[in-house]
Amino acid sequence: MSRMVHRSNCGVKIIHGLLQNINPATGDLILPSIAITTPSELSTIISKAKIAQCVWGNLSLSKRVELLRQSITTGIIPMASQLSTTITNEMGKVLSESQLEVQAAIDMRGKWLDMVREANEDVVLVEHDNNKKADAEDEDDARVLEAAAAAESVVVRDPLGVVAVLSPWNFPASEISYLAIPALVAGNAVIVKPSEHTPLSGAMYCAALASALPEGVLQVVQGDGTVGEQLVSSDDVHMVAMTGSTATGKRIMKNCATSLKRLVLELGGKDPMIVFADADLDVAARDAVTNSLANAGQVCCSIERLYVEKSVQVEFEQKVVEIARIHKVGMPMEEGVTVGPLVSRMQLEHVKRQVKESMEDGATMLYESAIPTAIDTTTTNMDCEIQHGGNFHPITVLGNLQQSMSIQKVETFGPIIAISTFDGSEENAITLANDTEYGLTACVYTADLEKASRVARRIRAGQVGINCYSADEAHLKCPW
Ligand code: NAP
Repeated sequence: MSRMVHRSNCGVKIIHGLLQNINPATGDLILPSIAITTPSELSTIISKAKIAQCVWGNLSLSKRVELLRQSITTGIIPMASQLSTTITNEMGKVLSESQLEVQAAIDMRGKWLDMVREANEDVVLVEHDNNKKADAEDEDDARVLEAAAAAESVVVRDPLGVVAVLSPWNFPASEISYLAIPALVAGNAVIVKPSEHTPLSGAMYCAALASALPEGVLQVVQGDGTVGEQLVSSDDVHMVAMTGSTATGKRIMKNCATSLKRLVLELGGKDPMIVFADADLDVAARDAVTNSLANAGQVCCSIERLYVEKSVQVEFEQKVVEIARIHKVGMPMEEGVTVGPLVSRMQLEHVKRQVKESMEDGATMLYESAIPTAIDTTTTNMDCEIQHGGNFHPITVLGNLQQSMSIQKVETFGPIIAISTFDGSEENAITLANDTEYGLTACVYTADLEKASRVARRIRAGQVGINCYSADEAHLKCPW
């Protein structure tokens, strides 16, 4: 019998149509291996979605919301613990972070779901302007204006049909929720393709979310980017919602352009933090470390570039190193560990390469933590038959970074705290923060709130936190 082995673009091995996922902390194969959806299975799933959508789209908005709330309560809550463990096994975040992620997915049944419902409600528009009638020049005009004054216009939100959701591995439950739930509330059927790194978490979460919904309304397909591409290419998919890397986003946008499909993209980041000399340096250092290391740095809005005013550079760096020392890299199920492995050997190699190149170009290593010693991370051979050991990268604090270095330009996605300086002027801070092709979030730390506001308004980012990390603090209704 021939043995079909190939590797997807992200490095997950595929044997006989089965994804061979590796636990990033142990290097062990995760079982059961998940079967890749074949093209004929995909077309059956799409047909089923089209039929299910007719039923789902005809339910009232409040009924759809009620059923989704029921799914979260009776489907997700009972399996929260199992789902958290699966997330940690598949992508390596520490268990407490997986538990927080699942809790966030559960909490969505509250105010967030209400907000999504409100956005889908009919809007009644009434014009009450009797002055217009008085201004009319003849009787016909007056009659038309009178009718218009009495008329109601109703804006009704119709579903589009079938929506494809392509989700990333770094938040395998909550990122599906953010994309799938609004599409479902609007009356669409949804087909989710989870990342090839987190197929079990994706399947488990979707099965729970679908538990109170009519059959076929929410389905899952499995595989690598090829399956995602087949899904996006279908004429019977009317919209695509994707969270992932900028490179993949561009490919999907091209694909959608050929059929003018609606598209929502949530892409990568290289988020800056600016620390002026008058800031509370303890708070700034704490927030910098926390938000550079969360999820081992694998967060789209991680602090990836720290710009500190030159006059307080040494003091700030010392504080950052002191706090970084409290963190521990290790097995993600172990209590006390705050930073787990990176998702894949490929991701580990990317982070190592960025650090190595920065050091060669003159960066300073201010701190490098230990990693679990029993595990071999020295191999750089990504083609080895089985990846042994965990993908651990030390917590690394780098100083003296220059804007031209790759680590200041390209998303890192690792436990790196990257510090450089600015001259203390608002202009210099803004120029450095905006020197990027990304623009998710940013933050500014200073005691001078007027200065903070001026700087924040000129940073090109979706959200800017002032003396706080915006992703945690922003109002639910803030645009992302
Ligand atoms: P990715 O490689 O771009 O993948 C995203 C999804 O698209 C996966 O399901 C992927 O499948 C699928 N895909 C890949 N190629 C495709 C194609 N040609 N057509 C259709 N689908 C395709 O991203 P990732 O590595 O999973 O996630 C990390 C990235 O997501 C980071 O850049 C991070 O910043 C970003 N992110 C952004 C946000 C935000 O809110 N802005 C939130 C979280 C993460 P496979 O994985 O199976 O290849």
